Parts: sequence; C-alpha cells; structure tokens
Amino acid sequence: MFKTIEAEVLKKLPSPALQLEFAQHDFERLKPFCLLIYLASISIWLVFNLIVSFRGGQGFTFYSVIFLSALLITTLVLAFNTQVRHFQWINLIFVSIIAIGIRLVIEGLPMDLHPGWLILGASTILYSASVLPLRRWAFAATLVITWVVLNPFYLTETSVLEVKGTTVFFYSSFLSLLTLYSFLKLRQVKLSNYIMAKLLLDQAYVDTLTDIPNRRAFMASAGQKLAHQPRTHDHYLAMVDIDNFKKVNDRFGHDIGDDVLKRVAHDIRVVMNDFDYARLGGEEFAIYLAGVRREDAAQLAGQLCAQVRADASQHPVTISIGLARVEDGETLNQVLIKADQALYVSKHAGKDRFTFHAP
Ligand code: GH3
Ligand code: MG
Ligand code: MG
Repeated sequence: MFKTIEAEVLKKLPSPALQLEFAQHDFERLKPFCLLIYLASISIWLVFNLIVSFRGGQGFTFYSVIFLSALLITTLVLAFNTQVRHFQWINLIFVSIIAIGIRLVIEGLPMDLHPGWLILGASTILYSASVLPLRRWAFAATLVITWVVLNPFYLTETSVLEVKGTTVFFYSSFLSLLTLYSFLKLRQVKLSNYIMAKLLLDQAYVDTLTDIPNRRAFMASAGQKLAHQPRTHDHYLAMVDIDNFKKVNDRFGHDIGDDVLKRVAHDIRVVMNDFDYARLGGEEFAIYLAGVRREDAAQLAGQLCAQVRADASQHPVTISIGLARVEDGETLNQVLIKADQALYVSKHAGKDRFTFHAP
C-alpha cells in the first residue's frame, strides 16, 4: 500500500519551488554536519601542512597562515549563514581555497609522489562534497574546480600514455563518476523522502473537506500558544457550531450540507485570518484568539456571526459561538469544555449569537 502511494506521488516531477524548499530544509538540517566537515578538513590539511613543513625543513610559512585564516573565515561565514543559496557559493570558495592549499602542501613532497597524493586530496574533497546539501550545479562546479586545481597531470611529469599515467587517469575518472552518482542518488532519495513526509504531514493536519486545519493541528498550534506566548493580553478560545445543521442535511441532502461546511470554514478563514482556527469535527469549529482583549474577542465573534448570516446563498445558515477566557494554569481541554458550556448557553438563548463563559 505504502509502496503504491509512494510510486504514485513520486511519478510527477517536483516543481522548482518545491526543490528549492527541499534544498533549504536539507541545508538547515545538515548545517552542523557541514561545519563539522569544514573543521575536520581544515584540521587534516593543517596536520599534513605541519608534517611537510617541519619534516621538510621549511617551517610554518606566511602562506600557510593566510590559507588557514581564509579557511577559518569561510567556516565562520558558514556558521552565520542561514540561506542554502549562499551556502553554494561559500562552499565553492572553501573548495577552491582548500584545493589550492592541498596542491601547495603536495608541492613539498618528492615529485614521484605527486600524482598519488593529488588523487587522494581530490577524492577527499569529492567524497565530502557528495554528502553535503549542494545543488546539482554546485556539485558539478566542485568537480571542475577540484580537478583543475588538483590535476594529477599538471606539473607532475606524468603522461597519460605511460602505465602510471593511465592508471591515474582511469582511477580519477572512476572516482568522479562514483562521487557524482552517489551525490545524485543521495539527493534523489532525500528529495523523495521530503516530498512524501510533507504530503503525509499535510494530510494529517488539514481537514480534507474544508481545507482548513483539523483538530490535531489545532491541538498542536493552540496548545503551543497557550503554553508559551507571553501574556501581555488575554487569550480567548471560541467554539463555533452551525445552527440546525441537521435540518440542512435532511432537507437538501448531504452534499449541500458539505457545501455549507465549506462556506462556514471560508468565513472563519476570512474573519479569523490572524488566529489559529480549525474544524474540530462534524459541524464544529474552534478559534484560538491569542493576545486580544475581551472587547476584541466580542467584536470578532460578532463579526463572524454577521458574516455567516449575511453570506448570500440558497441555503442560509447561522452559527452560535461560545467564548472562554484562558486562565493561568488551564489546559487546552479545560478551556474547550468552558467554551462548549458557553456555546450551550448561546444555543439555549435562541442561537445566532455569541456568549462568554461565566465562571
Ligand atoms: P444545533 O443548532 O443545536 O447545533 O442543531 P444541529 O442540527 O446543528 O446539531 P446536531 O449536532 O444534532 O447535528 C449535527 C449534524 O451534522 C449531524 C450530522 O449528520 C452532521 N454532520 C456531521 N459531519 C458532517 C459532514 O461532514 N458533512 C455533512 N453534510 N454533515 C455532517
Ligand atoms: Mg454540533
Ligand atoms: Mg449544530
């Protein structure tokens, strides 16, 4: 079942906007990992630099200090960056600096070791890049920069036609294809997972009939507001119920009943746009009015009643509302019960009105 749905969902190509959203999400999740990779790369480069400098009898040069500073500054920029599109450029800068740094360290080794170490350097960069949250063009650019700077045939007295050169050439090609394939495959799997997770979350938190948030979404978002929002103003909770809805269904049929539900949901969306609202189930809705005064809550409830009443339609309905103030230490369920009691009062007083819960 899961496989069938997954295959169906993934059949169509994700839009560029969705791909960008995925890239940003991927970057945010992997940013600490990127920083770790950068710091590990700098450390290993530094160790090799120190070995070659001191065992080679050159000491730690001014150049090394410049490279080290440039790499650390780039890492610092990454630490403060929050945008995936900036990360692509930061990464290209980092790759360029470290590739040149690696080349210079290798220059300090005996000539016959150069091709082998250049390939090791390139494979470290390419493998690391293949697991970073890069866009496809940025990975391609990394491949190009790496091989231009760490080209094992440039200044190494190695020819492709000799045995050594031929093996170097084939291994470099294999390495490029392997890391490119890993990068593309990994990206495809992560993107598919993102699309599936997003779709399932959307379906789990949105009411399919009215397309507004459902009870689960409301309990999460209103619960969070209730627990965390600093209380400069009061919070109120409104319970909304359509009046005589059973009659609408009985007289006009279930489909018309569904249309009425959608219309009321639309009215709630229009009037309560700044607040959390949801269809709790059946013909009941709830709205969490965070940071409002009692007059504001009354004004909004009155406006919603008027909006539903005034909605030009062949099947007019009205709604009743119960309002409850959120007291310190109360849970969302406790406030929902109070609002429901106030709703009951509205119904008994003749419907099409709102009532505040009286303690
Ligand atoms: P009151 O004014 O006291 O609220 O009366 P009411 O008729 O609205 O109240 P009641 O709770 O008895 O009726 C609710 C009806 O809502 C019963 C049920 O058939 C209908 N209903 C629940 N969910 C749906 C739905 O998804 N679509 C439709 N068309 N009807 C629904
Ligand atoms: Mg009801
Ligand atoms: Mg009703």
